[in-house]
Parts: sequence; structure tokens; C-alpha cells
Amino acid sequence: MIDLRSDTVTRPTSAMRRAMAEAEVGDDVFGEDPETTLLEQEVADRLGHEAGLFTPSGSMANQLGLRLLVGPGEELLADVQAHVVRAELGAAAVFSGITTRTWASDRGRLVARSVEEIAEPNAGAYSVSTTAIAVENTHNFGGGTVQPPDQVRAVQHFAREHGIGLHLDGARLWNAHVASGTPLRQLAGGFDTVSVCLSKGLGAPVGSVLVSTAERVAAARIWRKRYGGGMRQTGILAAGARYALREHVDRLAEDHANARVIAAALDVDPATVDTNIVFAEVSDPAAFVAAAAEGGVRVMQLGRTTVRLVTHLDVSAEDAEQAARVLATLPR
Ligand SMILES: *Cc1c(COP(=O)(O)O)cnc(C)c1O
Repeated sequence: MIDLRSDTVTRPTSAMRRAMAEAEVGDDVFGEDPETTLLEQEVADRLGHEAGLFTPSGSMANQLGLRLLVGPGEELLADVQAHVVRAELGAAAVFSGITTRTWASDRGRLVARSVEEIAEPNAGAYSVSTTAIAVENTHNFGGGTVQPPDQVRAVQHFAREHGIGLHLDGARLWNAHVASGTPLRQLAGGFDTVSVCLSKGLGAPVGSVLVSTAERVAAARIWRKRYGGGMRQTGILAAGARYALREHVDRLAEDHANARVIAAALDVDPATVDTNIVFAEVSDPAAFVAAAAEGGVRVMQLGRTTVRLVTHLDVSAEDAEQAARVLATLPR
């Protein structure tokens, strides 16, 4: 089976497993796990932030970041298709008392004006005050969209001007970096909190990192424990992630090339394929998913008339070509 449902299905390679097996470990809740401490500092350095915190999931990294920026009864603005809005099961409301409003977008692409039009900073005693804006780069449900740098800068300028916090959901920031050639520090700069996933395209088995100032990360560490996310000998996981950071970032370019091969087989406009995610319109997604599976290709229905196909570490160029041959024959 060629599994194109998600880049979360990647399994650790044997070299990564060796790095994990040899990891020196300690109790990370006591701050004594050397690999985890190194990973946190390494990711913070790469993203140009002061400190980092390893978390069991991207959702937890996002939710820790958001709760540091938005108080109960205050407002977060996000894209209507944002992961923090659609795929974290209301966590911002449940855990942090955060209310959310969303702006509409085309394929998740950020347009500063759409954000500015709905923001209500310092709204007083009658209306909810906007205290943070979340940006997603690349944009998952938008189709792996890389955010336009000028629009990001415009939103950052607006947020600074009005004292609004900024969170970057950078689950696939690595893909944005490789696809655009923009340095990670530039992509992660100007945000107060940033989350990145280690277990998607990078291929580590578990985990994300939240980066911010040392002060915010210290607060996030307390909340992580409160959420039940304080873990012990995490060095085994951190060693896999550190291996991935060394070996699996640049190769994301292969995933992007493979995604274009799959897009071509489905007559998807290549201009809509920035990175490793392809969305294809089909009349009957359930039938398409079943027919693809019969041909040895797993794809995911996402929406009433769309399927999502994602390339990753466990899909070789040959796999992508084989998948393209199968998918091209299916009725759409
Ligand atoms: C995958 C993903 C996350 C985190 O998901 P978890 O399953 O909680 O690790 C966050 N944001 C985006 C955009 C994602 O694609």
C-alpha cells in the first residue's frame, strides 16, 4: 500500500531507530533528560527564538502558545480552515476560555486586509477584545499553502501597532522553508509563539516543539505538566527528532516534487501545489477512496467533494509514479 492519507503516517527509519536506541536519557520533568534539552535549544536556535518546549503533539504545542497570548473571554482570530479552529476539538475554548472568530480565505492564503477587517483590539466593556491572531504556514486544509511573506509582514505590523499577540502554527514550517528557500528564522520571526511538528514530514515518531521567550516557555512548561504532558525519559523521542532535523529537512524537496507528479495525474492545477499536499475535486470521494485502495493507494476524503493526498518520507519517487498511474485511471 502507498499511503497518501497524511504525512503523519511516516515511520522512523532504521538509522533513526539506532539514534533513538542509543539516546542518553533522564527524567525530563526534573529537567534531566539531556537529549530533550538539546532538542528544545536546537529548535529554538533554528527558529531564532530564545527557548523551546517539547510536547507530545502539535495540538498541545499550539494550545500552550495560545493560552499564553489570550486570556479567558478574550478573542483569537484565525483562518476559517485553521487547524487550531477545525482540528483541535475546541481546545482553546475548553482549556483556556478563548473565543474565536475566523476570516475567510482562498486555499488558506493569508490576506492582511481580511484579518484587519475583523480585528477588535481593546474593544472595551461591550465587545470581545482581540488579543491574538494565529497564522498557519504551510496551511494544511488550504492544501500545503506557503504564506505570502508580504501579507505575513503586514499582519505582524498591524498586530504590533495594536498590541495583539501572534501565534504561528508552523506544523509544516519546514516545508515552507524548503519550498520557498526562506530561512527558518525569517519565517518564524515576528511571532510571539511558534509551534513546529517533528512527526510529519520530518519522520520522527512523536512530538512537536513550542518556541518563544524563555519567560513564556517557563510558563508553558508549567501548563504542559498541568495538561498531563510532562513526560519522563523523552530522550528516546528527542533523539529521533534530532536525527530528523539533521537528515530529513532538505529532502522535503523530494516530497514536493512527488506531490507535483500526483497532482498532474489528477489534472490538479500545479499552481495550487506549493508543497507536499494535493487536494483533488472528485464527484464521489467515498467511491474514489475505495477505488484507489483497490489499486494499492490510500487517500483521504476531506470535505464533501475533495480528497487529500500527501507525500512524505515513506513515499519514494517510484511510489509516487506508481500512485499517479493508479490514480489517473480512476473515475473522478
Ligand atoms: C498536524 C497539525 C498540527 C498538530 O497535530 P497533532 O496531531 O496534534 O500533532 C497542528 N497544526 C497543523 C497545521 C497540522 O497540520
